[in-house]
Amino acid sequence: MTDLRRSLSPEFIAHIPRRRYEFTIEEVIAGGAVLTVPEVIAQLAPHKRRLLRSWTCPAYAVRLVAVRCGACRRRWRFVCPVCQERREILYKRPAQRGDDGATWACRPCAGLTYSSKRHGPRHPSRRVPTPRQAVIAKRRDELERRALDSLANSDLWWAQRRDDVLYAMTRAIAERESEAARSAAWLREQIRRPRPIASAPNEITLLFTPELLATLQRLNAGQMSA
Ligand SMILES: [Zn+2]
Repeated sequence: MTDLRRSLSPEFIAHIPRRRYEFTIEEVIAGGAVLTVPEVIAQLAPHKRRLLRSWTCPAYAVRLVAVRCGACRRRWRFVCPVCQERREILYKRPAQRGDDGATWACRPCAGLTYSSKRHGPRHPSRRVPTPRQAVIAKRRDELERRALDSLANSDLWWAQRRDDVLYAMTRAIAERESEAARSAAWLREQIRRPRPIASAPNEITLLFTPELLATLQRLNAGQMSA
């Protein structure tokens, strides 16, 4: 790879995209380092939820603000500690060499990409649902159950088969959840393995001596213990 890089023109090398995000969201979710608004705001008393405009959660040291939504409703959102934008979900990326995993931050600030973007749609890590996918799946399951109930109430054919269909649905959900758990366990295993050092800008890479490059490659291969 080194020889190849040296033989390419600097103009060409300047156009090779750098890896922008170090980890995927699914890896961070598998590690449990994810915060959603409902689980954090549950720690605030209901009357304060209606009155306060902003609140800093003492358990996680993250600030939330109440955002107006329509004429009289309000929604709580995180304020990303890095970019100060309003966010629904915060992540904490795993510790890397030279830092302790930093703070809670939104997806781009935490340097996370979606697994589907990095590995494509069929990668096993895609079975780990993001918080939004989990909510959508739960809603869909509930809708299907309700549709089945109303069918069974109005139609004898469905009433006779209701329990069988319900059983099949429950089994499909359990199967999906156990696959997600297996994928999450696999990701947690992967994340502990040494990973490539984030690529330096190419103009800097060209200045590396062969000895330094060899050292970096050994580090990458995990042959040197820190
Ligand atoms: Zn941010």
